[in-house]
Amino acid sequence: MQDIKVARSAGFCPGVKTAIDRVLALASQDKRPVYTVGPLIHNKQVTDMLEERGIFAIENLSQAKDKNGVLVIRAHGITPDFQKKIEAAGMQMLDCTCPLVKKAHNVIEVYAKQGYHTVIVGDAEHAEVIGLIGYTAGHCDVVATEEEAQKLPPYKKVNVVAQTTQKEERFNKIAKIIKDKAEVCQISDTICQPTKQRQKETLQLAQNADMVIVVGGRHSANTARLAKICAEICPKVLHIEDEGELSKPQITGVKRILITAGASTPNWIIERVKEKLCQLKK
Ligand code: SF4
Repeated sequence: MQDIKVARSAGFCPGVKTAIDRVLALASQDKRPVYTVGPLIHNKQVTDMLEERGIFAIENLSQAKDKNGVLVIRAHGITPDFQKKIEAAGMQMLDCTCPLVKKAHNVIEVYAKQGYHTVIVGDAEHAEVIGLIGYTAGHCDVVATEEEAQKLPPYKKVNVVAQTTQKEERFNKIAKIIKDKAEVCQISDTICQPTKQRQKETLQLAQNADMVIVVGGRHSANTARLAKICAEICPKVLHIEDEGELSKPQITGVKRILITAGASTPNWIIERVKEKLCQLKK
């Protein structure tokens, strides 16, 4: 008999859910095209659904064919410079920056104005981190690992912040390394509460599972991070995008299965994965 459990924190985080709801509401009321710079979330199924409703992901402003269209700022946020460019282009904006990302912008800006150098713990290529860098007044470093933090120079005044989806344990270790080499160090733990809850719950549940199935886009950084956290505790972890990747041999002999999902995975995909597992176990 197989036991299949779905983590309560699996799926859309509040920031992503609000952004999608607002964009869908806009597209249903307004006949103008809606553009997002980069995909609204890293999930192909959702991106396809959005395109069917006239919501298009573009790579840069020049790709917005209709300048009367509406430009959506994603939950990840953008730099102040980019915001100015959108305003200069005369396009209407729908700002869906997550309030918890805005909080990180504010913390960076406040300390940067007081002459603090900023160190961001996160992935330098990620859209959220690119947005955060825009608030550092040009004085910043980005590190992703303890090894990278060891190589940083000593600072007079430094503010250490986190990409909102970072692993808490790693952030604390990196912050300690930086603190030890700074005269004045402000540690601003900007990891968002939904991420902390998700990581905590996953750790607890994964300990009691024989297999964890992590559902989410291959390009979703937070889904990949979740799969990595699970792999540290549970010997069998499967990262899938949807139920089509599941087969009977993968779950044969497995008693306790935990399903979890990244912040950009819609509930309907999680449900389908659960249904498919129930069919496969028969
Ligand atoms: S992960 Fe956290 S900060 Fe990022 S969009 Fe979701 S709720 Fe907001």
